[in-house]
Amino acid sequence: MRNYNFSAGPGMLPLPVLERVQKGLIDYNGTGMSVMEMSHRSKPYQEINDEAEALLRELMHLPSEYDVIFVQGGASTQFEAIPLNIHRTGKADYVVTGNFSKKAYQEAQKYGDIAEAASSADRNFTYIPTLHKHMFRHDADYVHICYNNTIFGTRYTSVPDTGNIPLVADISSCILSQELDVSKFGVLYAGAQKNVGPAGVTIVIVRKDLQDAAHPLCPTMLKWSTQIREKSLYNTPPCFSTYVAMEVFRWLKEIGGIKAIQKVNEQKAALLYDYIDHSDFYVNNVEKPFRSLMNVPFVTPDEALDKEFVAQAAAEGLLSLKGHRLVGGMRASIYNAMPTEGIEKLIAFMKKFKNSAVASRNQ
Ligand SMILES: *Cc1c(COP(=O)(O)O)cnc(C)c1O
Repeated sequence: MRNYNFSAGPGMLPLPVLERVQKGLIDYNGTGMSVMEMSHRSKPYQEINDEAEALLRELMHLPSEYDVIFVQGGASTQFEAIPLNIHRTGKADYVVTGNFSKKAYQEAQKYGDIAEAASSADRNFTYIPTLHKHMFRHDADYVHICYNNTIFGTRYTSVPDTGNIPLVADISSCILSQELDVSKFGVLYAGAQKNVGPAGVTIVIVRKDLQDAAHPLCPTMLKWSTQIREKSLYNTPPCFSTYVAMEVFRWLKEIGGIKAIQKVNEQKAALLYDYIDHSDFYVNNVEKPFRSLMNVPFVTPDEALDKEFVAQAAAEGLLSLKGHRLVGGMRASIYNAMPTEGIEKLIAFMKKFKNSAVASRNQ
């Protein structure tokens, strides 16, 4: 039996994708071997690599002046790859809106003159600061943002205007969940395990004019231009994870692409936020305009009840609802693969839990 997995990452994968992967697990397409055992130089793997890229380009409407690579190391490795790959003046400006953007900011400080242009730490990362062009240094190599903040449950609702300064965005927890105008960004990157596939593969999308400014000490393996030139096959790539990602891309295309899934995601999130806001019991502390479509943190009126909630929900097949240790309470991550029925089951459980908590309080 499959449960509903609300984990922030690795997250749930679509059942049709798992079934297809299972079908080809022992003998992929008549090759007599699994993708895990296959040479990355073999024809069947070349086809997977090419199709994964082609489908991602199609789904995201990637303009031709962008290259895309599938690499190892997770989004966290890009925290250091970014300042090492875009290193002209060595200056870069970061917007700190949560845990991951802070980590990216701290990592970059090892490599240059890195400034915090804005932060939402003053109200515990419950909003996205308003950004203006003049907040950034005119000679900064890039501005870095985290588009969806997985732990605090916030997201940008529009792409900030950074003028001529390239915008670099971590989209690990929102890639493929909503339409995004790629042409407004210089670099986009995402670890796969939230919305794309299994951990192990990281997607990096780089505009061509940002591929020749690497620091001389940038390691070959971290250099985007190395992997771009070799079509992600400079060394052994994360073959199996990329293959599963390709199946996720196929699935997403079949169900109508990003436009269609965005609509579903908006409906799912609205169901949950509406219930929370009208419950008189559960609270989501994020300022309304900035609420994430993907990660929904919430609390009950007391911490002991939160713990009880997580345990009882798990017993009913609603898994991994414990909030991040920085926020506490609960967090429902409702990525692309979470069906609407999962949200409905969660809300039904929340009602039941609330009623019994209120009843025992009134006794
Ligand atoms: C999960 C996450 C990361 C870390 O990703 P890894 O692939 O584990 O390095 C970074 N940024 C965001 C926004 C995330 O959600």
